Amino acid sequence: MSDDILNSTKKIFFCKNCVESNKRYTGTLQYKRTKNQKLDTAKFDNTGVCLSCRYYEDKEKTDWKLKEKELIDILDKYRRNDGNYDVLVPGSGGKDSIFTSFILKEKYNMHPLTCTWAPGMYTDIGWKNFKSWIDAGFDNILFTPNKKVHKLLTKLAFKNLLNPFQPFILGQYYFPLRLATEKKIKLVIYGDGLAECSIGKQNINAHHQKRNISVPRLNYSIKGEEIFLGGETTQDIMEKYKLDKIDLLPFMPMEEEEVLESNTELLAITDYINYNPQNNFYFAKEKSGFQVNPDGRSEGTYTKYSSLDDKIDGFHYYTFYIKTGRGRATNDAALEVRNKIITRKEAVSLVKKYDGEFPKKYFKDFLNYIEISKKEFFDTIEEFRSQDLWKKENGKWVLKKAVWHKDETK
Ligand SMILES: [Zn+2]
Repeated sequence: MSDDILNSTKKIFFCKNCVESNKRYTGTLQYKRTKNQKLDTAKFDNTGVCLSCRYYEDKEKTDWKLKEKELIDILDKYRRNDGNYDVLVPGSGGKDSIFTSFILKEKYNMHPLTCTWAPGMYTDIGWKNFKSWIDAGFDNILFTPNKKVHKLLTKLAFKNLLNPFQPFILGQYYFPLRLATEKKIKLVIYGDGLAECSIGKQNINAHHQKRNISVPRLNYSIKGEEIFLGGETTQDIMEKYKLDKIDLLPFMPMEEEEVLESNTELLAITDYINYNPQNNFYFAKEKSGFQVNPDGRSEGTYTKYSSLDDKIDGFHYYTFYIKTGRGRATNDAALEVRNKIITRKEAVSLVKKYDGEFPKKYFKDFLNYIEISKKEFFDTIEEFRSQDLWKKENGKWVLKKAVWHKDETK
């Protein structure tokens, strides 16, 4: 079955410029994710360079002064001085949401409300950083979904999709828009953009298909569409687990009509201000005392400043690695190459050293959270391991083709 869910191209190769693999998934409408579904994978041009790298080349030619002017025009349209919030900034208190909320407030005189979709299991450092963000001077609404439901959906997403992080992703996409509508805040600005997170502009545009709506297609559904959570229909979940619609509502997208009616605009700051993850890190450190991973680096990678909040993070990257052959270090290294923080050569050796490292620190917590045994965990992992990507050598699974092999870019 695992072959079905992988891309049709059997050949594996890596970007000549960064370290991205052609097997990377590029996102889909989360509410349509089903078991055995074929997913889109990273696109490359005919010179063997991934479109995310090409996007960064375009960014170098971007007139950022002009972009900032566009941003200011948008902000001027929404700015209020009547004692109401005028922009909603979703985030966790990580480097990107800190950067965004601060510049909106201090540089552009906006009145942001910040909001947070709680991680499944907060890490100590995630909770600390969240609190420092609020301490630094922001109102925040923290939404914590019903843990019984969150656990159930995490388990279903793990078993059906090998994607235990899906409930968090659903909340990231859907909760801020619903909150903005309720609070009558007409502008939502995210601190990170999908294009920067190695997906590439072209792939995202395919999802956006604007229909006179100022909200990306990833963030809402169309009337009459069936909604899947953790790979099962909401109808099935409600019947099987005796849940009400309200139990699932926080995880469900708003419909296009409701979004249109609310007249909300949703955008990413990275479309207007040149993004650099390292600069945001230094900014966040200075402004709100943002702290890095106390272990020195996160498991599965060499970096210490991204995705620190949730004990499930490590399993998100590890399961992705099993399905696509590229993990958390590839993610970070590809992004840092594009931002000219490290060279491709350095990236290759970092990927070789850290990619696919098992997230053992919170393994017990994770098993307890979704109430499965170690055996069930590894059986599920093996169910999704593609024979196209992996082979057994001396009793151990190894990648058939990795970025540090010779001729890896062909
Ligand atoms: Zn690339």
